[in-house]
Amino acid sequence: MTTITLVHGDITEQHADAIVNAANSSLLGGGGVDGAIHRKGGPAILADCRRLRASHYGKGLPTGRAVATTAGRLHARWVIHTVGPVWQPDEDRSGLLASCYRESLRVAAELGAASVAFPAISTGIYRWPVDDGARVAVRTVREAAGGPVAEVRFVLFDDVAYQAFETAL
Ligand code: ADP
Repeated sequence: MTTITLVHGDITEQHADAIVNAANSSLLGGGGVDGAIHRKGGPAILADCRRLRASHYGKGLPTGRAVATTAGRLHARWVIHTVGPVWQPDEDRSGLLASCYRESLRVAAELGAASVAFPAISTGIYRWPVDDGARVAVRTVREAAGGPVAEVRFVLFDDVAYQAFETAL
């Protein structure tokens, strides 16, 4: 059984085996969660990301996929980088958003992570409506969690996101 918990706060402060980064496909950093993780985690994370780009993802990490690096100076052991879809009002891309949660959990299970912290993927710079993003997140985690992952924690930065996840749960 996997326990799902909600926390109001900053994902970079979390004590969890793995924290998930809402990255972009370049893996070379950006704004929002991504910027905060690289700033606090230090250059070891970016060095790992550059190695992954060179060895496996010359064109960048595709949307919906996930890959792990060190967590550098963060409390976590690993950062799992996943690339959320940009919201498109005229196209249903929720399968790709679900894939981010599913693939991140698959990578976490492979690593043997017992606890995984997620941000609300795609709901910031990528403009996904947070109510819908929360429903996709909760549904997918309920379906996909298991194995060594005993706790999935959603870490929500603001009240609106927290309430959306509380409603979805
Ligand atoms: P995306 O590009 O996937 O939309 P963002 O990082 O812009 O990613 O935003 C994803 C969500 O994470 C947004 O709801 C945003 O408010 C939230 N967020 C931003 N910084 C942090 C942080 N340090 N910890 C947790 N959540 C954060």
